[in-house]
Amino acid sequence: MSAESEQLRRWDRELVWHAFTQMSEYEPLLIERAEGCTLVDVDGREYLDGVSSLWCNVHGHRHPRLDAALVEQMRQVAHVTSLGMSNPTTVRFAKRLVDITPAGLDHVFFSSDGSSAIEVALKMAYQYWHQRDDPRPDKTKYVAFGNAYHGDTMGSVSVGGVMRFHEMFASLLFDVVRAPSPDQYRLPPGRSEESACADYLQDLETLLQQHSGQVAALIIEPLMQGAAGMVKHPAGFLSGVRELTRRHDVLMIADEVAVGFGRTGRMFACEHERVAPDLMCLAKGISGGYLPMSATLATTEIWNAFLGTYAESKTLFHGHTYGGNPLAAAVGLASLEVFDDERVLEKLVPKIERLGQHLARIGQHPHVGDVRQCGLMAGIELVQDRETKEAYPWEEQRGKQVCELAIRDGVWVRPLANVVVVMPPLSVTLEELDRICLAIEAGIAQVCP
Ligand SMILES: *Cc1c(COP(=O)(O)O)cnc(C)c1O
Repeated sequence: MSAESEQLRRWDRELVWHAFTQMSEYEPLLIERAEGCTLVDVDGREYLDGVSSLWCNVHGHRHPRLDAALVEQMRQVAHVTSLGMSNPTTVRFAKRLVDITPAGLDHVFFSSDGSSAIEVALKMAYQYWHQRDDPRPDKTKYVAFGNAYHGDTMGSVSVGGVMRFHEMFASLLFDVVRAPSPDQYRLPPGRSEESACADYLQDLETLLQQHSGQVAALIIEPLMQGAAGMVKHPAGFLSGVRELTRRHDVLMIADEVAVGFGRTGRMFACEHERVAPDLMCLAKGISGGYLPMSATLATTEIWNAFLGTYAESKTLFHGHTYGGNPLAAAVGLASLEVFDDERVLEKLVPKIERLGQHLARIGQHPHVGDVRQCGLMAGIELVQDRETKEAYPWEEQRGKQVCELAIRDGVWVRPLANVVVVMPPLSVTLEELDRICLAIEAGIAQVCP
C-alpha cells in the first residue's frame, strides 16, 4: 500500500460522509478505475462488480460506445438548463424514452436522481386532481406498500416503509394509506402461496373502497421490492393493481428506478404484465450507470391538466438545476443504442438461467430461507431457522459478513440486512456470474455453518 493511497484512505475515512454507512466502522475501499465488470482499487486489487455499482451499471464500466458519446457531447456543450430551454440531445433522449416505455407515457420530466423523480410523480399526481376539468381536490393522499423504498427525500421517505431507514423521521412525514407488502415468503398467518395474489389484491381493494375518495395515487415497485430485501410479488399482482387503480379512480405510479432498463429481462418490469401506468419513474440504469439522471413520464391526460395561461398558475413549479443534463442524455441515448445493437436483452436469457441454477443450489443451504430472482436481480435471504423463517438478529450483520468475505475473494457485493444481493451489470459473462455466485456461496458456508 503506497503512502499516497494510505493518505487517501485516511481522508476518505475522516472527511467523506458516505451514504448509508456507519462511518465509525467504515473501511475505505477506493476504486480508481474499472473496465467491464471489474473494479480496480488504488493498490491495483481487482473486484468483480456484483451489484452494478449499486444497481445502476448496465453495459459494464468504460463501454467504448458510452465513453465516445460522452466525449462527443462534451465537444458541444456540457450543460443546458431545462428551465424554459432545451438542447437537441435531451430532446432526442426524451423521444426515445417515450418510444420504448409503455403506451400512453408521452411526456418526460427530467431530474437527476430517483428520489427526485418520485417527488415529481407525487406532486404531479396531487396537482392533477386539483387542476383537471372535473377537479377532485379531496384526492390528496397516496397508497403505498409495506416495506416500500422510493428514495431518501422527505416525500419519497413518506411513501417508503422500511422501518430501519424511515422510523427516525416519522414525525416529519405525511400520512400514507399503507397496503401490506405482497410478500410471498412471509405470508400473513393462515394464507397460502396459491391464493397469495388474490388475497393481497383483496386487501388492496378493501383499502381502496375505504379511501379512494381521498387518494390521488398508488405507488408501486413493479414485480420486486428492491431495498425491502428483494421481495418478489406474486405473478399477476401488478396487473391486478392496475385494474383496481383504474376501477377506483386512483393514478398508478410505477417506480421502475431499480427494475427498469433490462434488469428483469424485459426493458421495463411493467411489460411482464402488459401494464401501462399513469406515471413512471426511471433512474439508476437510465444513463447506463454513468451519470446522475432520472425521468418521470406522464400520460397526456395528466399533462393536459397543467396547461393554461401563466396567470392560471397551472404550471408545475418544480425543477432541478441539472435536470435533463445533455451529457447524461447523450450517454443514456448511447446506452439504448447498445441495447439494440448488442441485442442485450436476448443475450440476457442464458445469464438469467445460469443465475437461477446457482440460486437453486445455494437455496439448499440450511441457513438460506429463500432465494428470490427476477431476471438479473436476486436476493438470498439468510435465516436462523429455515422451518420457522426466524431471522438472524439484524445487529449480527450476517449479510454484511458474507459480503466482506466475498470482497476478500475479489467479488464486490453489498447486502440488504440478512439478504445478500446479486445484481451484476447486464453485460456480465457466464464465467463472471459463476465467480460471483461461488464467492457468495463460500461466504455463506463460513458465516452460517
Ligand atoms: C434507488 C431507488 C430509488 C431512489 O433513487 P436515488 O437515485 O438513489 O435517489 C427509488 N426507488 C427505488 C425502487 C430505488 O431502488
